[in-house]
Amino acid sequence: MRTLIRNIKTLLLGDDQAPMMVKGAAMQNLPTLNNAFVWVEKDKIVDWGPMSECPVATPDQTIDATGAFVLPTWCDSHTHLVFAATREGEFIDKIQGVSYEEIARKGGGILNSAQRLQNTPQEVLLEAAYKRLMEVKNYGTGAIEIKSGYGLSLAAELKMLRVIQQLKTMTKIPIKATFLGAHALPLAYKDNRAGYLQLIIDEMLPQIAEEGLADYIDVFCEKVAFSVAETEQLMEAGARYGLKPKIHTNQFNCMGGIQASVAHQAISVDHLEVINEEEIACLLASDTMATLLPSAPFFINDHYPQARKMIDAGMAVALASDYNPGSTPSGKIPFVLSLACIKMKMLPEEAIFAATLNGAYAMEEAHRLGSISKGKLANLIITKPMDSIAYMPYAFGSDWIDKVMISGEI
Ligand SMILES: [Zn+2]
Repeated sequence: MRTLIRNIKTLLLGDDQAPMMVKGAAMQNLPTLNNAFVWVEKDKIVDWGPMSECPVATPDQTIDATGAFVLPTWCDSHTHLVFAATREGEFIDKIQGVSYEEIARKGGGILNSAQRLQNTPQEVLLEAAYKRLMEVKNYGTGAIEIKSGYGLSLAAELKMLRVIQQLKTMTKIPIKATFLGAHALPLAYKDNRAGYLQLIIDEMLPQIAEEGLADYIDVFCEKVAFSVAETEQLMEAGARYGLKPKIHTNQFNCMGGIQASVAHQAISVDHLEVINEEEIACLLASDTMATLLPSAPFFINDHYPQARKMIDAGMAVALASDYNPGSTPSGKIPFVLSLACIKMKMLPEEAIFAATLNGAYAMEEAHRLGSISKGKLANLIITKPMDSIAYMPYAFGSDWIDKVMISGEI
């Protein structure tokens, strides 16, 4: 199939020499080309440029994009898309002022999700996750990372990761799987932390590696979850099976999780609602992506990461959804862009870079996604007609995406 998208008002991120990530001040320089075309063959971008250079060959399909923007699809590098049940009950508890600790004591939180997941058949999980995946695709997500971590037992973690593996075969959306066995300490190990770490290291990791079920290892490095020393132990164990780290850290406390992750060549450190000067300096000297998840502080009424300070210091920043039933029951990246601009003072250009190319870097897909470059996958967003880039984050909640192309197919 050969598809021509023509009369594009403005093409964003057209760059045949796109870097693997964009840092600091360069995040404002989003490549734009007015009155443009894109030529797609099978699943790849074959050509793009100004309409004056549009090929004369006849395509199989022509899309007229008059008045519209065309940009790469979002690379959502941090989600917990596979889960058994939503948690609206806790939502009401929170509205009525019940504390996080009380909710946890009533059997809520991650352990609640884990219990529900353990009792849900794999095919039921798969069906629900596939529906969510199709939903976020319509919001423009064209690549996604999905974590385990609601299993917390050998059988249930394997079940989650097998669901992710099945999803990979059901869609052309590139998917990366992350093993997050260390998401929370299961009740059965309440007084035996070392025992749970041994279970992860001695039983879960070897089995996951044998079945090839994960691309990365993640740990929730936080006072309420796992210590820096435990995180290091797990990153080292993951490395023995070729799993690179992507680490939840600095959501509530600065405790050395960033430094430890960077020392273990983490692909990304995620959350960073809190960060200090030393940690910014550490990230500046590294190849680790800072992935910000503003939907989480939005939903739990917490403070937002200091994106402006990070970018002004020269850091690269990625944006992701953190789609999960506890703190972010939404995978809508256009809303994440709005939060990034409204709450974190990012410019629209920076937010778009963060959700495309830098997101692709944070899941090691920047060589084939995240920009409009000859030879990259034809995963594209075609917007409804609009006047400027700023309309995208400005019109929060509005469905301004008209079409989504995945691997050359609308
Ligand atoms: Zn998360």
